[in-house]
Amino acid sequence: MKHTLPKLSYAYNALEPFIDAKTMEIHYSKHHQTYTDKFNEALDKHPDLFDKKPEELLANLSTIPEDIRAAVRNHGGGYVNHCFFWEILSPKKQKPSDLTFLKVISKSFSSFEKFKEQFSASAMSRFGSGWAWLVLTKDKKLEIYSTANQDSPLIDGKIALLGLDVWEHAYYLKYQNKRADYIAAFWNIINWKKVEENYLNALKYRHQ
Ligand code: MN
Repeated sequence: MKHTLPKLSYAYNALEPFIDAKTMEIHYSKHHQTYTDKFNEALDKHPDLFDKKPEELLANLSTIPEDIRAAVRNHGGGYVNHCFFWEILSPKKQKPSDLTFLKVISKSFSSFEKFKEQFSASAMSRFGSGWAWLVLTKDKKLEIYSTANQDSPLIDGKIALLGLDVWEHAYYLKYQNKRADYIAAFWNIINWKKVEENYLNALKYRHQ
């Protein structure tokens, strides 16, 4: 079965004014669609890999046939990262203070504000295109880090809990070169319930 775009659970304009409708439309229906198509094209050369979850392919990249390894890394990464991204966004403003998980964040980074600062700094300092992440490491610790291009944290054996796309295509129409304003806006549209769910699932994840 070919991989398909997931359905968005909100309208293109639902995240305004923080992310504008046009950016959402192009990001989802063009960029994410292209990653999906190119990921499928790569797997067409080794169709048995369609049976595996995309996440599993990324977590075991060294086992992927060499002729499609880079395509799986880039387009498979793009496919998975964007599926993940749409889910951790929410049009309904949620307070992180309602989370049980907040205690874990505050303990790991000394306060929620410090966590926010560190995550924003990571997103800000990623040179060129990439992502900022809050992940759970193999030894079940929270960590903030960033990846270049469409590299998934799974490649490094880390499980994403929260992620921010800092490719220019994610913000340029509304924010132009002002990445800092886009990062600041992001804090208004995070689906904290989903982030907490990601954390609880990551705790159960078994590394191979
Ligand atoms: Mn993107």
